[in-house]
Amino acid sequence: MLLYGDYHTHTRYSHGKGSVKDNAQAAYEKGLKEIAITDHGLKHIAFGLKKKKILHLIKDIAEIKDSCKVKILMGIEANIIGTDGQIDMTDEEIEMFDIILCGYHKFIWSKTAKDFFVFFAPNIIYDFFNFKLSKKRIEVNTQAIINNIKRFPVDVLTHINYGLKVNCGEIAKVCAKYGTFVEINGKRITYTDKEMKDMLESGADFIVNSDAHSTERIGEVKICEELINRLNIPPQRIVNLSASPEWRSQAAKKAKKSLK
Ligand SMILES: [Zn+2]
Ligand SMILES: [Zn+2]
Repeated sequence: MLLYGDYHTHTRYSHGKGSVKDNAQAAYEKGLKEIAITDHGLKHIAFGLKKKKILHLIKDIAEIKDSCKVKILMGIEANIIGTDGQIDMTDEEIEMFDIILCGYHKFIWSKTAKDFFVFFAPNIIYDFFNFKLSKKRIEVNTQAIINNIKRFPVDVLTHINYGLKVNCGEIAKVCAKYGTFVEINGKRITYTDKEMKDMLESGADFIVNSDAHSTERIGEVKICEELINRLNIPPQRIVNLSASPEWRSQAAKKAKKSLK
């Protein structure tokens, strides 16, 4: 499956193997037109992009932008840091990026101690032992993601249900309303066919990304293709097959500027 753009790739700024230039070159060789560099957000304990590296990233992209044959977007895979849906970025930082991906990751500096004890710790333990979550806990998890989508201009919700069991259909409904794309992640499928069907019914649109941590994996979305074929997901529901998607965060920026 050839994508127009791969909008979820990591570099050495988090725990990927390549540089910005390496990823862009790999994207060109794979026949892509666009690539987003989306390293982990700042509150990821081990792999988060360091605040001072944001300027390095801007410089890296600026240096190769003109000579590069693919368009490079400066993105980030932000983290949810609390049950209120808080993201690990300031408004100023959000403004600096072309696209904002957001997802649940477990090893995060949580917003408050309470968030650690009632949200992160139980989910880490339940996920590790593969315990069945109570209805109440799934509701809390679902609401955290819904709060996140409502409060922040998230372009892409990454690997839904990964490490954090949620009601996928309910979240996808909110994504549809707010213009956030639900990711079909090339590294892992994290929901059942039934959950995918619920998300399709919700009216949300989807984006297919590799989540590559090495240059060889850029544009590689074989497991997504299998899922799409098996469930007959209509191509028009996938926003990055033949054109550049319309990004919610960019629309929000434009709207903000026109108010000034
Ligand atoms: Zn991730
Ligand atoms: Zn990722």
